Amino acid sequence: MIKPQLNIQLSDGQRIPQLGLGVWQASQDQARAAVRFALEEGYRHVDTAAIYGNEEGVGQGMRESGIPREQVFLTTKVWNDAQGFETTKQALDASLGRLQVDYVDLLLIHWPAPSRDLYVDTWKAMIDLQRQGKVRSIGVSNFNQDHLERLISETGVKPVLNQIELHPFLQQEEMRQHHQELKVHTQSWSPLGQGSALDHPAVLDLARKHSKTAAQIIVRWHLELGLIVIPKSVTPSRIRENFNVLDFKLDALDIAILTVLNADKRLGPDPASFA
Ligand code: NAD
Repeated sequence: MIKPQLNIQLSDGQRIPQLGLGVWQASQDQARAAVRFALEEGYRHVDTAAIYGNEEGVGQGMRESGIPREQVFLTTKVWNDAQGFETTKQALDASLGRLQVDYVDLLLIHWPAPSRDLYVDTWKAMIDLQRQGKVRSIGVSNFNQDHLERLISETGVKPVLNQIELHPFLQQEEMRQHHQELKVHTQSWSPLGQGSALDHPAVLDLARKHSKTAAQIIVRWHLELGLIVIPKSVTPSRIRENFNVLDFKLDALDIAILTVLNADKRLGPDPASFA
């Protein structure tokens, strides 16, 4: 049975499934098994990165699933030490080789790493790579407003999305507003707060109210906010659970209850200084 998909149209015309699988901190073998299982369950979007060290496993899982390549939306990222014009092109070729694919659907600059001052050159390489067809869409991750504005003003090319840390304890209202003004989509990383949001009493109350799990409530919250979301799990039952969120809705009160959980609390590094 084909499960329903929510898709979002990006500014370059490509479509991205709104809900995908993240594989940070999964070994090659875990990534292989998780990607295969997720694709069999109906996921069509996988988020990896060169630095995760599991691109081979991701590619293997995609092939083992038997799902045609063109039906899967695959993202990888350029790590900080590969930033720069030529090095970005080499890094993408290396990723394509590990994944054993001809193209990725989305390539992201993983971090702006402003002290390296190379993200504009990296972006120019990515614009070329998109023209060459090795990458369908290009975007960024962990960019603050000033990084985004510089990228756009120096190249005239907007990223299709910015993948940022976003969960109930770090709701990023200002960045979301800025993205909306720029017509750049927001993608949430660590959407479950790396699991930390799952035992909050307010989330558990909503789970009881909807006869859903805490993880399903939070994934649904991201979807309701129009965010693109990539919860990570390597456990089959959780991969399935995180995807089964299309048969209920949160109402305005539920959203308000979750909105007050914001604490501007980062779990990851600060993009302004991380290098
Ligand atoms: P997450 O918020 O998705 O949480 C994952 C953890 O939550 C799992 O390891 C597991 O412990 C728990 N979990 C998942 N599903 C569960 C369920 N149904 N029930 C109970 N527990 C469950 O954290 P994440 O992995 O940090 O983020 C998701 C993805 O975002 C990553 O895998 C990666 O693809 C991406 N990411 C990107 C960046 C970046 O800099 N661009 C940084 C971090 C993560």
